[in-house]
Amino acid sequence: MIINSEQEMLNFGADFAKSLDNRVIELLGDVGAGKTTFTRGLAQGLGIKEPITSPSFTISTSYALPNSNGRLIHYDFYRLPDPGLMLDDLRENLENPENIIIIEWGESTTGILPENHLKIAIAYNEDGSRTINLQS
Ligand code: ADP
Ligand code: MG
Repeated sequence: MIINSEQEMLNFGADFAKSLDNRVIELLGDVGAGKTTFTRGLAQGLGIKEPITSPSFTISTSYALPNSNGRLIHYDFYRLPDPGLMLDDLRENLENPENIIIIEWGESTTGILPENHLKIAIAYNEDGSRTINLQS
């Protein structure tokens, strides 16, 4: 699927939230691909009103889900030298089946995420559009 603009990516994320059938999502793609933009759309679609900020410096941010007792938890492991503590936090958050977990730069989470988690790959095209591929 081709996404032509930031707004289209936000809309895609919001639509995705409506038909979400996997509560663990790993986002693949380079810096600037649109992983955080997708997450902002997803959060909107889940009914979260707070602005979604990139967790790059805090590693994880979480938001109450209006329709359940869980939270949307957004991780970004980019250049995290020692992900150990955050991986413990991730393991704990995975235990609550009401949480929705979305991860950028999740290479260090190998073996922790459920095997059937959804992977969304976002690739940058020369014309500025993005190509999305789903893998589960
Ligand atoms: P990542 O989290 O993958 O590093 P971000 O979502 O933070 O990327 O940034 C993507 C940037 O690219 C944003 O500034 C956004 O406005 C811009 N952009 C331009 N075109 C698109 C597009 N088609 N889809 C998503 N983002 C786009
Ligand atoms: Mg990002």
